[in-house]
Amino acid sequence: MDLSFDQRHIWHPYTSAINPLPCYPVARAEGVYIELESGEKLIDGMASWWAAIHGYNHPQLNQAAHQQIDNMAHVMFGGLTHEPAISLCRKLIELTPDGLERVFLADSGSVSVEVAMKMALQFWACQGNQHKNRFLSPRNGYHGDTFAAMSVCDPINGMHSLFSEVLSHQIFAPAPQTRFDQLWNEDDIAPLAQLMEQHHHQIAALILEPVVQGAGGMRIYHPEYLRRCRQLCDEYDVLLICDEIATGFGRTGKLFACEHAQISPDILCLGKALTGGYMTLAATLCSEDVAMGVCQGSPGVFMHGPTYMGNPLACAVANASLDIIAQGSWQQQVTDIETQLKQQLLPLAELDAVADTRVLGAIGVVETHHPVDVARIQQHFVRQGVWIRPFGKLVYIMPPYIISPEQLERLIGAIQTALQNH
Ligand SMILES: *Cc1c(COP(=O)(O)O)cnc(C)c1O
Repeated sequence: MDLSFDQRHIWHPYTSAINPLPCYPVARAEGVYIELESGEKLIDGMASWWAAIHGYNHPQLNQAAHQQIDNMAHVMFGGLTHEPAISLCRKLIELTPDGLERVFLADSGSVSVEVAMKMALQFWACQGNQHKNRFLSPRNGYHGDTFAAMSVCDPINGMHSLFSEVLSHQIFAPAPQTRFDQLWNEDDIAPLAQLMEQHHHQIAALILEPVVQGAGGMRIYHPEYLRRCRQLCDEYDVLLICDEIATGFGRTGKLFACEHAQISPDILCLGKALTGGYMTLAATLCSEDVAMGVCQGSPGVFMHGPTYMGNPLACAVANASLDIIAQGSWQQQVTDIETQLKQQLLPLAELDAVADTRVLGAIGVVETHHPVDVARIQQHFVRQGVWIRPFGKLVYIMPPYIISPEQLERLIGAIQTALQNH
């Protein structure tokens, strides 16, 4: 593989063109293993950023892709429809929290967030309420890298200062502080409640990641915060957008993180694990009320339609992934991973380099006192035969659900040795 060409000409996520971090060439992937061109096999701790929940090169997902590609890879979705999309949307409506009845198929997580935000704005505009055109969001959120999505990301992590002239100015509440298993503290919701009271006449929607804030800090918070957000949205006539792009499809121990609080949002974003990590596909679901509101009056239609909307190949694989989910073994797998993470990863809090550890479902987080040297720690992990990609002070894992106890122990052991030598 021509790595110098890669270094010279190809952007990778969040890297410098001047001084890029090294990349490891991958030859193939199978089950929980990523196989490097050098022949080394790495146990995957990242599920390719929350996506590959069933593992790589899965026979059922492969078969679905083969069957579909021999039929048709893609047709436009304007004026045409097909069984893979119908069957997928039917499943999504059945599986997701009550009241979500309409599905918009988008091509990536960020686009599904753009769609959700546009829906909320168009909903209020079509009610003749042009003033409700801002978004409220807790700090430490992450919702994607496109401009509307970026405007509701944490203003510091999201580097808003760089784009202050172009980004919409949204309203930020302090991030939730009460941890998932702590006693709920009523003070935690007070600042957000106050912002709602002050600004509700200009807030189109509250957008948040339910229970787990992902890339904006890997924070896990009390479900009561989410329940109170739902109540405040009802009280002040503000839509609730839940971004379950990372948390959806079992990752937190429930099929959707909203279930921890037994709430339904007005608009829901899904992505990442939707195709079991095979290809890019996302979905924005909304309630019948939102859909009707958006299409009332003029222009009477929802103004969005990506070229590859409803891509049949991606829908076919997503259908196969949801069929595996429907068999139900994810539940025991995620419970077992959580138990082992609690036993083996939480105690890493005792290391000098470690500030905090936290676990929910198949997510394990180790937060260090100081930012880690990514290139160095990456090399350590590869030598240990694992693939873990930290950022900043966060060394975290969310492995494929099929990982064995021995493989998970290898991941945790590699984190321990990396941070002991720190
Ligand atoms: C990854 C992520 C996104 C963005 O999805 P992309 O497919 O990378 O555009 C949005 N929201 C959350 C919570 C995410 O984890």
